[in-house]
Amino acid sequence: ERSSSNPDRLFKVICIGDSSVGKTSFLRRFCNGSFHHGMCATVGIDYSVKTITVDKSQVAFQLWDTAGQERYRSITKQFFRKADGVVVMYDITDQITFTAVRHWLTSVQEGADGDIAVLLLGNKTDLDSQRQVSTEEGKRLAKENNLVFFECSACSGYNITEPMVHLARLLKEQE
Ligand code: GDP
Ligand code: MG
Repeated sequence: ERSSSNPDRLFKVICIGDSSVGKTSFLRRFCNGSFHHGMCATVGIDYSVKTITVDKSQVAFQLWDTAGQERYRSITKQFFRKADGVVVMYDITDQITFTAVRHWLTSVQEGADGDIAVLLLGNKTDLDSQRQVSTEEGKRLAKENNLVFFECSACSGYNITEPMVHLARLLKEQE
């Protein structure tokens, strides 16, 4: 019998994007359902594992977070080694983080070996009154670069598992 300790598939996914967009918060919400306001920027963990059911199969994600090095937008190529997928995140209330997505996509192209599935996430939809990046802009960027796109909120819990299910489907198709 398949279980979380014996998944059908295991995918290595790395999470990138500017500092403070909510990468660590999103991963925590996805992995254990929790959210902490004003979390400290640097968390020393390397990765966490989360298993979900996708179309009746057990898919395990090995999720790699960045621990502050994204501040300099210089993620080493080694970080992308053997990655199956990437989550690129921006903050919908911060235009600079959206502009930086192109930079992050270039890093992916340079660092990843071969084709890699990319999920674009616009986080912090709970702060809609402070929004600087429209949903349409996000959609357009995703379409131009052939990415899966969602808006989400690690704070409210909106669109946490759904985007990851879509990413899992894409990864399964690619094999
Ligand atoms: P990281 O640097 O990308 O890992 O970002 P963090 O996860 O450390 O989050 C940076 C700050 O944004 C923290 O104060 C979080 O509490 C906050 N934050 C993260 N996600 C959300 C969200 O969806 N909504 C709101 N309002 N705040 C968020
Ligand atoms: Mg972080």
